[in-house]
Amino acid sequence: MPLNTSAPVSIIIPVFNEEDNLPELMRRTLAVCRALIRPFEIILVDDGSRDASRDLITKAVEANPGELIGVFLNRNYGQHAAVMAGFAQARGEIVVTLDADLQNPPEEITALVKKMDEGMDVVGSIRVPRRDSIFRRFSSFLVNKMTAHVTGVVMHDYGCMLRAYHRQVIQAMLQCHERSTFIPVLANSFARRTAEIEVRHAERHAGQSKYSLWKLINLQFDLLTSITTLPLRLLTIAGVMISIMGVGLGVLILILRFIWGPEWAAKGVFTLFAILFIFVGGQFIAMGFLGEYIGRMYQDVRGRPRYFIETVAGKSALEPT
Ligand code: UDP
Ligand code: MG
Repeated sequence: MPLNTSAPVSIIIPVFNEEDNLPELMRRTLAVCRALIRPFEIILVDDGSRDASRDLITKAVEANPGELIGVFLNRNYGQHAAVMAGFAQARGEIVVTLDADLQNPPEEITALVKKMDEGMDVVGSIRVPRRDSIFRRFSSFLVNKMTAHVTGVVMHDYGCMLRAYHRQVIQAMLQCHERSTFIPVLANSFARRTAEIEVRHAERHAGQSKYSLWKLINLQFDLLTSITTLPLRLLTIAGVMISIMGVGLGVLILILRFIWGPEWAAKGVFTLFAILFIFVGGQFIAMGFLGEYIGRMYQDVRGRPRYFIETVAGKSALEPT
């Protein structure tokens, strides 16, 4: 349904050791939000920072009552868990996520909100020009291709966290209790009307990327296992293939044995191999099936909390929904 143009907006910003970016981030985001002329709240989720970020947020919340809210997690749970904590806190009809490092200018929020007013469920953004290392760009390229294929929703830039979501999509996401989440993909699995807009992308304003190679690899695995059990199914398929090959080999050996006699077949050794292959294949099939079940149980068992909120500072001016 199309929204009225006074739909309240929640901005969610995950913060992990961003002391050098926070002052400018908060200044610019506040300015943009005030210019929207509609109710808003800015939720800063501190993901267990070890620098001055926490103090900076606390002070800013006191200085801007009703506009800023600080959510403090008790330790570092990762960007996506932090954003989920923000979602749980958010009350706006439109929810916008934004990185704290000013790579995506907060000024683009205006354009996102405008697009959302047209009645979208999710509005993504494409970074032009992209200012990241070749390595980051290549991994993003792979992720985008894979996700588009699996979710069936073509979006060009899943990695860009400057995005807007409708309340309903947020509600659906909050009901997903799996631990490994990749928010843009999860959101798209609940969205019908999606759109993308182009946004500017800058170098990181200050500090270093919070993603090490290992964290990135972890993220890709989260992405893969959160959207599909395909890897497990591949096991079954491999098993079937091996078995078919085993049967084929057995038949071939049988035929050749009739043509060339028992000496050729090394007195049954070849036949043994054929039988062995069939069993090896059978084992793979069994493992694949086991994997399917374990995968399903894994989905159900993951009901434990993704994060733990220590304190919440500030009060939202928005009505509870
Ligand atoms: N972040 C977080 N927890 C983490 C890692 C990152 O909350 O464990 C936040 C970080 O403060 C930033 C955003 O997630 O606001 C994106 O991080 P970063 O800019 O380092 O990622 P990149 O731009 O390199 O993808
Ligand atoms: Mg960044």
